[in-house]
Amino acid sequence: MKIDLTGKVALVTGSTRGIGREIAHALVGCGAKVAVVGRDQAKAEAVAAEIGGAAGFACDIGVPTEVVALVEGVEKALGSCDILVNNAGITRDNLMLRMKDEDWDAVLETNLRSAFIAIRTVQRGMMKRRWGRIINIASVVGLIGNKGQANYAASKAGLIGLSKSVAKELASRNILCNVVAPGFIKTDMTDAMSEEAVKALAEQIPLGRLGSTADIAGVVAFLASEHASYVTGQVFTVDGGMVM
Ligand code: NDP
Repeated sequence: MKIDLTGKVALVTGSTRGIGREIAHALVGCGAKVAVVGRDQAKAEAVAAEIGGAAGFACDIGVPTEVVALVEGVEKALGSCDILVNNAGITRDNLMLRMKDEDWDAVLETNLRSAFIAIRTVQRGMMKRRWGRIINIASVVGLIGNKGQANYAASKAGLIGLSKSVAKELASRNILCNVVAPGFIKTDMTDAMSEEAVKALAEQIPLGRLGSTADIAGVVAFLASEHASYVTGQVFTVDGGMVM
């Protein structure tokens, strides 16, 4: 059994580094043409060139008009968007008492509203073609909450409600919408942590290690493929068994 995405066009937001970059790389590996997206055009183009089989696009996904223009630009350059991965996300952590309105708005606009706008924009083409895959990257924090992350947890829980509604609205058109909720993933952020801190973190995880970006990308590639054609409206927690 092989994942074959030949002929498909995928748009992956926040794919200049971290999890998104690995997702872009995996989808190209399965034969898709991939749009790599970040805020800086030159950086997005450089990453796309490194990956190969991809093209770079600049967009601040917190700005609705930019998201619409991004989808239009990708469809003009690569063809109609078959696979949308809403991956870009930010944190602005603080305890509720100290959390500013701007921190709330920035996180909700970047993590949640952007996904709504992107889905609304790509859905027309997917409906016409009677085929589509939408995969939203949430977090275990959206399931269980976290001190100091009220805005982030709300945005990720919101993505789950959005995804289930989209799954119900678009199922009759063969457009599937699922969520991947990562736990602790090894990225630049965790690389900066002390060995002891990482060890303490790993002790809370039944599989005894942090996840890799490839652990997330594999699940996303599966969900984008024909092998997942009977799966919609689901949340896939990829966290080494931390939240059961
Ligand atoms: P990184 O911080 O490593 O990368 C974030 C990506 O998003 C970058 O490519 C960045 O591009 C892009 N981005 C950020 N803001 C914007 C914006 N306004 N417009 C367009 N692009 C933007 O994130 P991770 O790889 O760690 O996380 C990816 C997703 O996974 C996020 O949604 C995160 O919440 C989620 N997640 C991550 C976990 C982890 O342990 N790492 C755990 C659980 C969930 P650029 O800077 O080039 O603009």
